[in-house]
Parts: sequence; C-alpha cells; structure tokens
Amino acid sequence: MLQRDEDAMLEAARQARENAWAPYSGFRVGAAVLGASGRIYPGCNVENASYPVTTCAERNAIGAAISAGERRIVAVMVCADHKDPVTPCGMCRQAIAEFGPDVRVVCVGRGDDRVEYSVSELLPFAFGADKLEGRA
Ligand SMILES: [Zn+2]
Repeated sequence: MLQRDEDAMLEAARQARENAWAPYSGFRVGAAVLGASGRIYPGCNVENASYPVTTCAERNAIGAAISAGERRIVAVMVCADHKDPVTPCGMCRQAIAEFGPDVRVVCVGRGDDRVEYSVSELLPFAFGADKLEGRA
C-alpha cells in the first residue's frame, strides 16, 4: 500500500470518526476502505437505541465502497477514539474477510501509532464462500 493512500485513508477515517453517531457508548470510530480503483470510502459507527441494530464503522465503509461499484478491497483503516489502536470486532473481521485473506487492516487510535495486519491474521480460519459449495 502506498504511503499517500494510507495517509489519505487516515484523513478520511479521522473525518468520519467526527461524524460518528454514538450517543449511547460515546465510543466514536471512523473507518476508510481503499478500493482497487484507488478510491477511498469513509464510514463511521452508527448506534441505535435498539443496541443490536448498531453498525460498525468498518462495515459502513465497506457498504459505501460496494455501493459505489468497488469489487475488490485493498485495505481498511480503523480509527477509534481511544488512546491505543483498536482492532475490528469479530463481525467486522468476517465482513472484511469476504474480500480475501490478504486485505490489509490498519488500526490507529487518537495518536500516531499504527498497527497493521492482514485480515487472515485477525481472523484465521474465516468462514468463506468455499464452505457453501459441496454441502452434503
Ligand atoms: Zn465491528
């Protein structure tokens, strides 16, 4: 991943974090997806009074990318309102893994520290489309 793409993702994720709808937890998260086209798609967490309806920033950013026509995702940046970098929740790991084991996941907090993984490092043995074939 190019440094300028990573920097642009960070800017987009930080901006999205400012727009988070988090009146219940106060835990604001922004995300940015880098599509194969080079375009970047932001997302933020959107909480709901019916708590399970809440959607995470990562999945909202993926939804924005797919809605815009992207079919391959290169990387996902997660920018949480926390002193340390925060990794995606289990549901988001599964959502990212849909786009292949090599998608890069970059996590940042309020500071400049970044940690980076492949989604397969975060979710080994992910459920995949291959499991939908050959059911007996
Ligand atoms: Zn999540």
